Amino acid sequence: MSIRPASAVVPLCTLALAAPVFADGAFYGDPPDATHPWALHDMNRPQPPLVTPGTFSTSEQPGRPPSDAIVLFDGTEATLAKWEADKNTAEPTKWIVKDGTLQCVPGSGYIRTKEQFADCQLHVEWSAPTKVEGNSQGRGNSGVFLMGQTEIQVLDNFNNPTYPDGFAGSVYGVNPPYANALRGPGDWQIYDIIFRRPVFKDGKMLDSGRFTVMMNGVVVQDSTPLEGGGGHKARSHDHAFPEKGPLKLQDHGNPVRYRNIWYRPLPARAVDGGDLGAMAPEAATAKKEQIAKTIREDAAKLQGQAKLLRQMESLCYAEDAVTRQETEAGIATWVVGVKATPASEMEPKKGEIMHMREAIGYMTHFKFLPDSLPAKPEIEKIVRDIGWVKK
Ligand code: MG
Repeated sequence: MSIRPASAVVPLCTLALAAPVFADGAFYGDPPDATHPWALHDMNRPQPPLVTPGTFSTSEQPGRPPSDAIVLFDGTEATLAKWEADKNTAEPTKWIVKDGTLQCVPGSGYIRTKEQFADCQLHVEWSAPTKVEGNSQGRGNSGVFLMGQTEIQVLDNFNNPTYPDGFAGSVYGVNPPYANALRGPGDWQIYDIIFRRPVFKDGKMLDSGRFTVMMNGVVVQDSTPLEGGGGHKARSHDHAFPEKGPLKLQDHGNPVRYRNIWYRPLPARAVDGGDLGAMAPEAATAKKEQIAKTIREDAAKLQGQAKLLRQMESLCYAEDAVTRQETEAGIATWVVGVKATPASEMEPKKGEIMHMREAIGYMTHFKFLPDSLPAKPEIEKIVRDIGWVKK
């Protein structure tokens, strides 16, 4: 492949306009490494998506979900249509909508969403019958089953002891809640659940899966490993889950009511093919190649110092011989341009020259460009001679 010759002297007068593009992020924090595809404080990283927050619920009134929530039940018959009986054949559920709530009809069986999903933030509000009947596991029992597999217990434990790993807010059969923060029967209880499914690869467990649960705003599970998801009497053990599954609500013979059920899918963990946290080296390398390609495409639309800086930046993510040669030649040409600038015109260029010096310093410090780069001592001499840095 032929290398495009670097253009003649880079006209400094065109540079100031482009400079703000690189004002933040680049050549600043530690660069990408073997498992982190982005630099520290990296402006190439996507901005977090905008979400308009919802409102909090009160006992009298359910709150409004966040703008990106997928609503599973909002008190209407229309959202009841998102559910079906948990049977082998698709059947309408016998649970009923009453006064804007979804009510379990004892003996009708579990209910499940038609939609299937996995990792999520799930919001569920429930209310045990005001008329207190039964005790221990027999009072106001229902349950929230993520992927239909693992239960966050719903139980009226207001003045009602039971085995702790079957308490309201427990990962049933796995872990008791840290606290009993229930309101009285008939009042509304709010569960905010963060769920991560187990991740297995080639038969090896990479993550047991996790639950974090807030009960009425009180933490009751904090990244609790699923250990297979729990169950009744028999201890569960880690095993793979399907890719996704329905949300199920339990019929345990009590007319428990639900309202305001919604979820938000969560971005994938690094162990599950995503780019949250430290990645496997091969996945990080692929991601860095992708980032470098995007930056080089951006550089191709630019000119002068702006182009050079962007090309340099791309080398922090992935080596590319053509980009390297163009960059090194471009830097040499840039220095020639600086040297050719009359002393009387240097002061207005101070910002862009110092920025370039900083970038070259970063690139050589982290060995993305050779420390022997001729431009480095040349630009150091220029800024010292003019008095911008101390000799
Ligand atoms: Mg239950």
